[in-house]
Amino acid sequence: MAKDYYEILGVSKDASKEDIKRAYKRLAKKYHPDISKEDGAAEKFKEVSEAAAVLGDDQKRANYDQFGTADMSGGFGGQGGAGFDFSDFMSGGSFDMGDIFDQFFGGGQRRRSRQKRGHDLRYDLEITLEEAAEGDKKHIVIPRMATCTKCDGSGAQSASDIKTCDTCNGSGVEKTTRRTPFGIFQQSTTCSRCRGEGKTIKNPCPVCDGEGRIQKNQKIEIEIPAGVETGTKLRVKGEGEAGYKGAPSGDLYVVIHVQEHDTFERDGNDIYISIPISFAQACLGDEIEVPTLKGTAKLKIPAGTQTDTLFRMKNKGIPSLHGYGKGSEFVKVIVQTPEKLTKKQKELIKQFDKDIKTKKSFFKRILE
Ligand SMILES: [Zn+2]
Ligand SMILES: [Zn+2]
Repeated sequence: MAKDYYEILGVSKDASKEDIKRAYKRLAKKYHPDISKEDGAAEKFKEVSEAAAVLGDDQKRANYDQFGTADMSGGFGGQGGAGFDFSDFMSGGSFDMGDIFDQFFGGGQRRRSRQKRGHDLRYDLEITLEEAAEGDKKHIVIPRMATCTKCDGSGAQSASDIKTCDTCNGSGVEKTTRRTPFGIFQQSTTCSRCRGEGKTIKNPCPVCDGEGRIQKNQKIEIEIPAGVETGTKLRVKGEGEAGYKGAPSGDLYVVIHVQEHDTFERDGNDIYISIPISFAQACLGDEIEVPTLKGTAKLKIPAGTQTDTLFRMKNKGIPSLHGYGKGSEFVKVIVQTPEKLTKKQKELIKQFDKDIKTKKSFFKRILE
């Protein structure tokens, strides 16, 4: 006996099916590669899943208890119906415990359809900062496998061309009897005629050659929520590739790229802008017009404002994608020092400077 499945799941030899299910659920959560950061978690996860696949199935468990192997065809994952494709969900990204349970603890129909589910697709979408702030609808065109409209995904020329497989009577499973030194065993494998589908097609659909799907450029409307940023992944359920012969479609993942903006810099949900103000505005104060993501807004500059002062305009930033509230717009004012002065202006400033008493004066510094 290569591996002790009971030990792997931490259950006793007389554990009930419920006990095994519970143990598996707990361990699968613990070691799932999307969740666990432990070294070797993926290996552990595989091991736990393998143990559950065997002990969760009455027939395989009986074989395992008696002979130390799950079935007579050469162990776990060997032949057709006995196999279970780990890569299916190990690499898939999305992880649905329910699906896996059905696959182990009964629910062969779901397993068959899952294996032919269409691929997930990725689309990189570039948008402007304004679009990211406001949210938007975009139309994109993606080349993908789409459900054949001629046969509606069935793969048959007409509905009457779909027949129940007479090799397996529609069960998708072929039972074969094997003689071994231990006695006679009945073994279930995927039906070789219908490949487990339970149906055969007499005349395949001429458009899709019986596949139920065809390559197509598909136009899709994407709803972009306000607050997205570069790297945000939007999942559009069911808009990936169509499944084989009417099996469920994959999902489409739209990855957002927000373009650099000419005026604003973004930091999280806040935006930053630099605005020049005149020497006089800085001295005397003023109300200025500042660009915002939606137009302009008025900002009061108090008298005596120093260069590089940062003003905050609340709620003029970007809305939070996953919650409430909005970021701010920060306005940095840059005081412009006058460059070309007339003789008269120079005289006035010199006069002004004499009036200033404190040596720390800002104006004194720039004139010296
Ligand atoms: Zn069949
Ligand atoms: Zn077709």
